[in-house]
This record gives sequence, structure tokens and C-alpha cells, in this order.
Amino acid sequence: MDNTALINDFTGEIHSCTDLAGLYNIKVKYLGKKGVITDLNKQLSAIPADERPAAGAEINKLRLAFEELFNTKQTELKSAERNAKLANECIDVTMPAAPAPLGHLHPVYQIYDEIVDIFGAMGFSVATGPEAELDLYNFTMLNMPKGHPARDMQDTFYISEDVVLRTHTSPVQVRTMLNKKPPVRIIAPGKVYRSDHDSTHSPMFHQVEGLLVDKNISLSDLKGTLQLFVHLMFGDDIPTRFRSSYFPFTEPSMEVDMGCVICKGAGCRVCKSSGWLEIGGSGMVAPEVLAAVGIDSLVYSGFAFGMGMERIAMLKYGIDDLRLFFENRLEFIEQF
Ligand SMILES: [Zn+2]
Repeated sequence: MDNTALINDFTGEIHSCTDLAGLYNIKVKYLGKKGVITDLNKQLSAIPADERPAAGAEINKLRLAFEELFNTKQTELKSAERNAKLANECIDVTMPAAPAPLGHLHPVYQIYDEIVDIFGAMGFSVATGPEAELDLYNFTMLNMPKGHPARDMQDTFYISEDVVLRTHTSPVQVRTMLNKKPPVRIIAPGKVYRSDHDSTHSPMFHQVEGLLVDKNISLSDLKGTLQLFVHLMFGDDIPTRFRSSYFPFTEPSMEVDMGCVICKGAGCRVCKSSGWLEIGGSGMVAPEVLAAVGIDSLVYSGFAFGMGMERIAMLKYGIDDLRLFFENRLEFIEQF
């Protein structure tokens, strides 16, 4: 019985096999129920009885030879498969990381920082105070005693009889003047509250007020300061205009307008065809206010002004609805 051809066959097939599935098919072909080597066993009965043990031993050698080749190849293919898997799944620690989303300042606070920078360069320092404020500082010492009609100009949130959510940052001016003798040169930026809500009003918004008290301060100092602010914030070509007005804590009082940044004065929807945009109120500090904090109005005089920061941001960025600032939708915020 010469099995050389058979051995050459499966040796060649096993050697050239490149995957485990193919290798198992070869095993079925030779050792399966109807496999080539299995068939040889079945043929033993046709062989004379005295030759059977030798023939059986030959078949057994064939099987062992096959299994040795098979096992070696199986180990080799399994190891190759594992190495390929490892190569695919490995982590390359030198790969650049996915960028982490970075936040940034809210547009109103970008304006806040710009305002602080501009007035800081003019020598104004920042003063702050509580948002829940004594009625005394929010109204009474600003020449608005209880029952004063001007209190109705502001829709106030009352916490108690004597405590309000501040309706403006003016109480910071009072607190500053109570603690410091002139010269005083501050801005008071921060949150203020009014019970009012529509496309141009929000129950909470940001205001910046300025206060300068010294000897020989006049209306022209006020006008020059605000003109410079508008130039630095909006551009040298934007003019300012002052209109006579009334506030209980200043005398005289003036509304501050600046030339429309959209149409440059030609007239458009935003400025209602006037060419001007209102940006705040201002005036010379009323003698009653100076007297209330113990400053002699015969020696010292001062000016004060106040502006809404959202208003400044809307004009600077061309935004037409105040509510966008408070809805905090990322599509809006991420534009700045
Ligand atoms: Zn305009």
C-alpha cells in the first residue's frame, strides 16, 4: 500500500491554506465521515485478514501525519489571526485627540469687558454692590423718597418694604460716595431688575453706570467722556447728541443719543428713520444726592450716566431682539 501520493496531496493542501475555515474544510475532506482517510478504514474489511493489522497501522500513521500537519498549521493560523486583530484594535497614542468643545464669554459679557476696558483707560475703576438692595440706596438717597412720583418710572420687584431687587446700579454710586471722599471716578456694571418683559425689555438686564465727582466738573466733561466712549466702542465717525430730559438724581438731565450705526444717519428701520439711536441717560449729580452722602455741592460737582449693556451689544452686533441674549441657544451664542 503506497500512500505517498495521498501524503503529498494533504501536505500540499495544508501548506498552501491561508485561513482557518479553509483548514477545517481540509480536515473534513480527509478525516470527516466520508473523508479520504476514513474511507481507507472502511476498505480494511476487503483486505485479507492476515494483512489487516499492517494495513491498519499504515492508515493510523497517515492519520497521525495529517493531524500533526493540521495542528501545526492551526496554531500558526490562529496566531496570525490574533496578531491581525491586535494590529487593528491597537490604540495609537500619538494620534491627535478629538477637539474638546471650548466655551467662551456670552456676547453681553464680551461687551461688559470692552466697556470696562474703555472706561478703565479713562481712569474709571469698577465698583460693585448687592443686587438685593436697600430701598434707601436704590431710591431714597437718590432723591426719590417714598411716594415720589419718579418711583413709578421703574417697575420694581419688592422683596420687602425696605428691600428691592435693584432697578439700576445707581445704589453702587451711593455706597461708593458714602465710603470715599472725592475725587470719585467709578463705573458700576452689573445686573438690574424690572418687572417688564417683551422684545425690548427683560426682567433682568445689565447696566453700566458711571460717576465722576471732583472739583470743577462740568457738563462738557460729561459730554466729552461719553463722546469718547462712543468713538472707542462704535467708531470715530459716530456722533453723539444730548437731549434735555428728567431724572430725579441729576440736574440738569440729558438723554444720550448716538448716530445710527446701521445707516450712518441716513435713516433706517432700526433708528425709525431719525438717524439717531438712544443709548442712555446722563446728567450732573443733583445737589440733593451729594448732600445725602455728605459731599459739599458748593465745593464739588459731578456727572453720572447709565446705559444698558444689552442695548450696546444689540447695536454693536446688529441684533434686533433682546430676548436672544437670554434664551441661551447655542446657534446664537456661538456666533460671537
Ligand atoms: Zn438708521
